[in-house]
Amino acid sequence: MTKKHLIRCIECSELGLLSPVDQSPEYDNDQGEWSVTERDDKAAFLERHQGHRLEELQIIEDSAISHEDYGEPVGASYFEATNGQERFVVKRFRKSVSDPQGYELIPGKLHRTLVELHVDERAILKELEEAFSPRRLSLDKIRVYVKQLEETVSALDPGELEAVPFEGHNPSVRYFYLDEGVVDRVSERAFQHLCRADVKILDAFLRENLADDLFMAAGRIRFRVDSDGCNQPSKHRAF
Ligand SMILES: [Zn+2]
Repeated sequence: MTKKHLIRCIECSELGLLSPVDQSPEYDNDQGEWSVTERDDKAAFLERHQGHRLEELQIIEDSAISHEDYGEPVGASYFEATNGQERFVVKRFRKSVSDPQGYELIPGKLHRTLVELHVDERAILKELEEAFSPRRLSLDKIRVYVKQLEETVSALDPGELEAVPFEGHNPSVRYFYLDEGVVDRVSERAFQHLCRADVKILDAFLRENLADDLFMAAGRIRFRVDSDGCNQPSKHRAF
């Protein structure tokens, strides 16, 4: 996250996110005529909270999370910030593209859990069908194998797998490489339904393409705000 300046008004529990962008003028084009409106959100925030106790918050690196895709202009995202003692979750939201971005402070920490892993069954099925069906393997056999793959992956603990070092299009989805051990497990299951020769063909294809995006496992991160020592139920608890 780029360096931004966060100020919290302790009395109003209001947040100002003050980056250089906030001081840029706004340009509007009305029927070919440009108008420029000078903006200074920082001055406006400081004026609104004149005489109040203010403190600076540090954004906690890499804490941002959202269910929306990157670049999605509306919706909500969350990140953490601290004043050195207390931790806060900052909810950043925008209801429509024409609205300014809003910020809300929620005392607490973001708690993340990675939920079940999956593979993209449809895409894998299509790829295997193109490679082997109908001459070498029937579509039914391929379906059975892909089902074993999905069931094996959904039972895996993400901690067993190597995480892919890049992020996808959505900050709440993490990707993992499947490895030889996973192929062995898929193979074991597939032998119960298919003949050895057919399984070997599909195993070989899977082993050759383990580094391909197609065979990566994806896990969604579910997150909620854990209020620090606060017994009051929060409307922001689960996302
Ligand atoms: Zn204030």
